[in-house]
Amino acid sequence: MVETMKIEVERVAKSRLPQVDFSNLPFGKIYTDHMFMADFRNGEWGNARIMPYGHMLISPATPALHYGQSIFEGLKAYRGTDREALVFRPMANFKRLNLSAERLCMAQVPEELFMEGMRAVLDIDRAWIPSTPGSALYIRPFLFSADEFIGIRPSLDFTFMIIASPVGAYYSAPVKVKIETHYTRAVAGGTGYAKAGGNYGGAIYPTKLAMDQGYQQLLWTDGKEHAYIEESGTMNVMFVFGDTLVTPALSDSILAGITRDSVLAVARREGMKVEERKIGVKELIDGLKSGLVKEAFGVGTAATIAPIQAIGHEGIDYPLPAASKQNFAAHIYSVLDEIKRGIAPDPFGWVV
Ligand code: PMP
Repeated sequence: MVETMKIEVERVAKSRLPQVDFSNLPFGKIYTDHMFMADFRNGEWGNARIMPYGHMLISPATPALHYGQSIFEGLKAYRGTDREALVFRPMANFKRLNLSAERLCMAQVPEELFMEGMRAVLDIDRAWIPSTPGSALYIRPFLFSADEFIGIRPSLDFTFMIIASPVGAYYSAPVKVKIETHYTRAVAGGTGYAKAGGNYGGAIYPTKLAMDQGYQQLLWTDGKEHAYIEESGTMNVMFVFGDTLVTPALSDSILAGITRDSVLAVARREGMKVEERKIGVKELIDGLKSGLVKEAFGVGTAATIAPIQAIGHEGIDYPLPAASKQNFAAHIYSVLDEIKRGIAPDPFGWVV
């Protein structure tokens, strides 16, 4: 555990904030003035500090660079109606980070370090939280091995950091996705349930191939038979079959998304029929052909909901009914958005 968590603060000499055009924020390119860092050395956490955001020195022999001993999280802070910083379900990200750390054989991050580090960044860079509708401050906590040792073994030293980036309204135009039946994102027994850097590096090539064919994303299937739907790009995926919301049941090849969990909780609370189960590729295609599948959408922190307009399988595109305001996807988006921004009451106790 962190002894008394004292955070040293080194402020920037001059803020970059006045140079930022908040009406035109590119995703993931602009970072706030400060970042949080802490070191795990000799078996304990220490040296918690806020520093100016900037380049840093790391050993060329760090296992994070060679063997992908690197994990991360992603969550958002919103500006509440009385201008305070509202963070959506940070404890869920904290728990998932440590689940990933366990799978990658990395040091556990104490709750205090995660939460107080995040609080320190939000405090010092509060003015960076955008207030225009749809925009937010994207928070990226991450943990990597900091050993200077290119042998493969559990690392001894780690660095935990938090950086933050203001992001604009992320409206997701309905996307065309392709069911992937050759490449695999994650397999049973693998690291798919962890937010490990390597999972993402390996997904870029098949995603690019799909993009070259005119799709925006992949629908990942199981690694063994490519017969069951798992996720959509870097989001979980949901379908409305008739009057039922259906999503793949969690497994060790699916990341347990916090948006997924939130959408399911809201749907159940509203009395909607919900099923978490295996969804066969064949069942999905049959449902698209017969019209039983009314909606399909990705769910994740970046866009909250990303409606799917067509699903490609073996060279044929199966269209979905056009997205409308009456859709479950549109409804759930506004319910969650109002909770996150503190506009609607938060019956789940999600907002911190
Ligand atoms: N699956 C994968 C592979 C992801 O990277 C993400 C984004 N973190 C999600 C699902 C959605 O998770 P969350 O709702 O927690 O953002």
